Amino acid sequence: MTKPFNTKQTRAAYVDRRLEQLYPETPIPLDHQDPFTLLVAVLLSAQCTDKRVNQVTPQLWALADNPAAMAKQPIDRIQEIIRPCGLSPQKARAISGLSRLLLERHGGAVPRTFEELESLPGVGHKTASVVMSQAWGMPAFPVDTHIHRLAQRWKLTDGRSVEQTERDLKRLFPEERWNPLHLRIIYYGREHCTARGCDGTVCEICRTLFPARTKPVPIRK
Ligand code: SF4
Repeated sequence: MTKPFNTKQTRAAYVDRRLEQLYPETPIPLDHQDPFTLLVAVLLSAQCTDKRVNQVTPQLWALADNPAAMAKQPIDRIQEIIRPCGLSPQKARAISGLSRLLLERHGGAVPRTFEELESLPGVGHKTASVVMSQAWGMPAFPVDTHIHRLAQRWKLTDGRSVEQTERDLKRLFPEERWNPLHLRIIYYGREHCTARGCDGTVCEICRTLFPARTKPVPIRK
């Protein structure tokens, strides 16, 4: 008898179905008012928790919540406010720089292409993917540490790199599932499958995917 989840495709279909049951709604974890404040919030979330970013941004939006106002702010004033998010000198320069470029190149609007987004300071492919999916509703699969870790643990990818993980996940899941699914994987990663390590037998997802697994297995962080 063939094992029910012995292929990446069958594992992916189960993960997609089960995570939708566990998390039918997919609220965006970073508080924001519009595409600009989402872009800045995602930039601030680099090596920082969404919880911490959400604690900091109300004060930042009170200072400036649009590119024109933000471009006028002294960088050290922005840096002072965002310091709790870490990497504040780089992030403050990037926020100031991208605000100016949004005015110069896009009439103050946040662009709707990966190329234009990734040409802004402090905006890499993951940040651009979050904005494309959560601000503009375009299909994207932002791979953060949670998604990179869980995709390996569920044997959906060999995880050589986040780029490889993104390619593998985009191949395994239908495009129309990417936007809600990447959030659901993040929720599951935060709630159950943390970086603290696991022996691969504690929760229903691995127990279902790997029913023959009776002994702890080395799990990648
Ligand atoms: S058993 Fe461990 S590795 Fe597998 S999904 Fe659960 S927490 Fe993650």
